[in-house]
Amino acid sequence: MMKKSKQLLFALTFILFSFHPSFGQSPYSLPPLPYAFNALEPYIDAETMQIHHGKHHQAYVTNLNKALQNSETTSVSLEDLLKQISKYPEAVRNNAGGHYNHSLFWRILTPGGNTQLSERFKRALDQQFGGIDSLKMRMNEAALKRFGSGWVWLSIGKNNQLFISSTPNQDNPFMDVVEEKGLPILGMDVWEHAYYLKYQNRRADYLSAIWNVINWNEVSLQYEKNVPKGKFDDWPALLAFHKVMSQTFHPSEEGNLEPLKQRSHELAEKAKALQTNPIPPAFNRSEIIETIKQLSKDSKKLDQLVKMNNRMPF
Ligand code: MN
Repeated sequence: MMKKSKQLLFALTFILFSFHPSFGQSPYSLPPLPYAFNALEPYIDAETMQIHHGKHHQAYVTNLNKALQNSETTSVSLEDLLKQISKYPEAVRNNAGGHYNHSLFWRILTPGGNTQLSERFKRALDQQFGGIDSLKMRMNEAALKRFGSGWVWLSIGKNNQLFISSTPNQDNPFMDVVEEKGLPILGMDVWEHAYYLKYQNRRADYLSAIWNVINWNEVSLQYEKNVPKGKFDDWPALLAFHKVMSQTFHPSEEGNLEPLKQRSHELAEKAKALQTNPIPPAFNRSEIIETIKQLSKDSKKLDQLVKMNNRMPF
């Protein structure tokens, strides 16, 4: 019995250890394509997919493992490696980038495409790019401008704002060497190897076709996973207003109008502050701005009514 549990423990430890990226001689491996080579037809042809995944991506993986063979830093995750890529030789930069970029690329494509965007992600696209069509147009523009080989990205940047950027070769927004850093959630490969067999030099045709197979559901999930939902704690002006409101309105609901009579001016001031102070990005949208405007107006009116009432002899 003892022996059996010892064996089991050993096996478990072995399995756990094998998940570690530093395990074995080749820490990185080619992820399987989540669909058939011909699944993205007619937009991306089977032969391109086969060569792109089986030859190009495989080569990045093989060469990355080779480049890291004599390095002592194989235990860092791919993301952490990219974040300090300036410390590594060129071969690591190109192949780690190639491996990361293509792993993301296969995931954000799907047969027939889909359009399942979360409400929050859709709102972010509307506010920051004027909608999904305008986003596509701007990404295509950036892709057409990319001279030679590279990528175009939609990433989550500072203050959880989305941004479009383009990088040469196999660089990406994770890398400490790029100008605009962020977390990429959508990447478009604009290397010729991604489209040449079907589209030859017509990059624009490939770019308009690829939107038919984008896995928006996955892009949206990545957004949801990485952009924290807004918390009221991040909004002191709202908390200040709410405090006065609860201290005045709750007693008035119980029939005690005194606190409201005494503090209606303060309440109006807090509502005004709520309107004039900056709104945290997570809440900064038109329906909330409208509501606050109304709240400020109504609080002022209420204050005037209370003052008028206070002058009445009853
Ligand atoms: Mn590629």
